Amino acid sequence: MLALILQLDQDVNPLFPGGSDRDELERICSELNSEASGDRRHELRRLLNQWQEVGQDLAAMLSADAALKKALQEAFRPEYFAGNGPRARLVLTPDKRTVDSPSGWAVVRFAAITLNREGHKLRGPCAYGPCGRYFVSKRESPSLYCSRRCCQAASAVRHRRRFLEAERQDKLRRATAAIRNWRGRRSRIDWKRWVCRCEPDITVRFLTRAVNRGDLGPPPN
Ligand SMILES: [Zn+2]
Repeated sequence: MLALILQLDQDVNPLFPGGSDRDELERICSELNSEASGDRRHELRRLLNQWQEVGQDLAAMLSADAALKKALQEAFRPEYFAGNGPRARLVLTPDKRTVDSPSGWAVVRFAAITLNREGHKLRGPCAYGPCGRYFVSKRESPSLYCSRRCCQAASAVRHRRRFLEAERQDKLRRATAAIRNWRGRRSRIDWKRWVCRCEPDITVRFLTRAVNRGDLGPPPN
């Protein structure tokens, strides 16, 4: 029995014959980012997440999922074509019965990604939440963001969060100090209004939330 091992070449990408590895990945990315793909996109995203979770260790992923392994093995059918002159070609064609269902559609694409020589560069979703797009990384090392713009936006969000947290801590400190000066029941106003009067930038709502979250202890009755 003669086993034939096909190493895919640049011009035989199964989903985009004639296109480069990168073209094929870009095309799959636009399907992943398109609202129109719906259930199919969801299935493919699920497979890609599974793959990322095991550090793109395909063997580990498939040994844990026999059904997926079988589906991938049956995703393509080789077709033998006579070329010009004495040579023939084997062309991989997605199995028609497979591509009709959302999971089959996703399996065919996942197979194409893992056969693609640059498939490991398909990344996503972009770590900047409002973007969330899939992308083809330009570098070998894994990148979290689809673009420099998203990377900068995420860093601005982190700075803003740190700033808001520092501001919150400062308010809690000043509220605690004001509560200490409140005269309890002898006072004519309740403690929250007292704090707001001492620290005009602190609101009753802020104090209520801080107490509910356990960040601030109300004065003892
Ligand atoms: Zn992005």
